[in-house]
Amino acid sequence: MPKSFYITTPIYYVNASPHIGHAYTTIVADVLARYHRMIGEKTFFVTGTDEHGDKIAEAAQKAGITPQEYADKISAQFRSLCPELAITNDYFIRTTDPNHIETVRYILQKVYDSGDIYFGSYGGYYCFGCERFLTEKEIVDNKCPEHGREPQYIEEKNYFFKMSKYQDWLIDHIKNNPDFIRPERYRNEALAFLREPLEDLCISRPKSRLQWGITLPFDQDYVTYVWFDALINYVTALDYPDGEKFKTFWPVAQHLIAKDILKPHGIYWPTMLKAAGIEPFQHLNVHGYWNSDQSKMSKSLGNIVRPLDLKDKYGLDAFRYFLLRDMVFGLDSNFSEDAFVWRLNSDLANDLGNLVSRTITMAVKYCDGKVPEISSREKKSALYENALKTVAEVEASFNDMSLHKALIAIWDFINVTNKYIVENEPWTLGKDPANQEKLTAIMYNLLVALRSIAVLLQPFMPQTAEKILRQIGIDESQKLDMTSIKKDDALKAGSTLTRGESLFPRIVEEKESKPSKGKASMIDLKPEIDYEEFAKVDLRVAKILTAEAVPKSNKLLKLTIDIGEERTIVAGVGKDYTPEELIGKNIVVVANLKPTKLMGVESYGMLLATDTDKGLTVLTFDREAKTGAKIR
Ligand SMILES: [Zn+2]
Repeated sequence: MPKSFYITTPIYYVNASPHIGHAYTTIVADVLARYHRMIGEKTFFVTGTDEHGDKIAEAAQKAGITPQEYADKISAQFRSLCPELAITNDYFIRTTDPNHIETVRYILQKVYDSGDIYFGSYGGYYCFGCERFLTEKEIVDNKCPEHGREPQYIEEKNYFFKMSKYQDWLIDHIKNNPDFIRPERYRNEALAFLREPLEDLCISRPKSRLQWGITLPFDQDYVTYVWFDALINYVTALDYPDGEKFKTFWPVAQHLIAKDILKPHGIYWPTMLKAAGIEPFQHLNVHGYWNSDQSKMSKSLGNIVRPLDLKDKYGLDAFRYFLLRDMVFGLDSNFSEDAFVWRLNSDLANDLGNLVSRTITMAVKYCDGKVPEISSREKKSALYENALKTVAEVEASFNDMSLHKALIAIWDFINVTNKYIVENEPWTLGKDPANQEKLTAIMYNLLVALRSIAVLLQPFMPQTAEKILRQIGIDESQKLDMTSIKKDDALKAGSTLTRGESLFPRIVEEKESKPSKGKASMIDLKPEIDYEEFAKVDLRVAKILTAEAVPKSNKLLKLTIDIGEERTIVAGVGKDYTPEELIGKNIVVVANLKPTKLMGVESYGMLLATDTDKGLTVLTFDREAKTGAKIR
């Protein structure tokens, strides 16, 4: 029996149009689905829309249409985003679908019958942005920190789910299954949340206050929406309880979400499943936010980069590549058009585009426009060995959800292949007919490398992969999977090679014509300053003497440093360095920064660091530096 794979995106709330966050989640799910299909697994991929609740009813009223009409309109926008982003979902679910409503009512009745839903009175502070009651701890300065507005005190009778009953079970489950929630930082966050007593979950609204939900099977005067509605979509899509799909795919279910909905997915959903007698899902994969100008790109702040604008401007595959390559899965990432263009020019136009075009051009010239025939003993080149290594790295990256690493591995191979051309100088060999046999073998190895690259790129950049394959004489009908990279008859001798158009033409920045900047810059620079302004910053070499964690902070470290005198600074590098690693290092600090208090600790200066693919890296010196010395 082939292995199975089930991936879901959250169902998107139809109170606003799609933005880059939605595009990213959906593209990641698509890459996973394409990859698992390619390695021969039976795959099911679901996305869709969440359509009930206050905000929808409100928005519909404003627009002068019914909630259903409103939901239809926005849901259609999300649905049409799928083909535009080359998304290969197998199913698109809507919470207003009759089969979903039936499943929600079935599960509610089941949990009610088993005694885990009760009727009670509840008074609390309700955030209309979150559409739930906030706990005391969540309210900061009388406001919901997520939405910046004051929650309202509401008291009413409602139905509650006995979530508290499952707290201990959930803690054990998370502890016994280390990758149940991943990456680890989010597992830790969920466990931290579970250190406090879990409250029961209010799952209903009286119809007097909200009509736009699913009527409870055991009380006609109440509806449910949000969690007991939306989360259940993941099993509705598999025809729970009796569907074949449910049997095949639920045991391997993986959810993909952004970190803002960790709590409902990591806490509410597993306890709901437990109460309903359904096994927990296998993995919850959590990613960070795309930031622009330091503020979160979320539906509530309205800070939105229209994803399709960039896709249309630079092409879909470049767009997919940028999102997947630039975000370390789990961490936040900064979005900028300049960074996008830089990636496009460097990785796509220079590395990949040039490799494909010069290989095909040379192969057409030196091999009469056809895949050459070579003897089998020449087929195992160093390039071939390197391709196998790349396959293993890509497989490992998919297994631990670090897709950017898969792309780094593929680009390493692209660069090894480019180097192979430079070292072997086919153009020199081509001058003397005596070298023909050697030249033919080199060209064959390069064509096989292109084929491997195209196969590896298929999940990420399907259109580009197809264009490369067409140029080396492989049409869509030929089944290409990862195992085909390992076979040495991957290319058929005699297939026609075709030179194609440039895969990724370089983007020339319009900025270059702007006279205001002395030198055109591809990066997002701050405004120019003169030397005197720079000279005001006192940078020093500092030796780290001691380092310890700041209590109650998972990120801050308190450092004692020597800059000719002893000082204390607080630095946010605790997630990336252990205190032991830092002690003894010579680093760079801003020594004349105004003191500031962080988590109760006074900090007299700031260290310099940069973001890398492996997290923050502190600036150090590549020769022994003198403690306290000025940096200029
Ligand atoms: Zn809120």
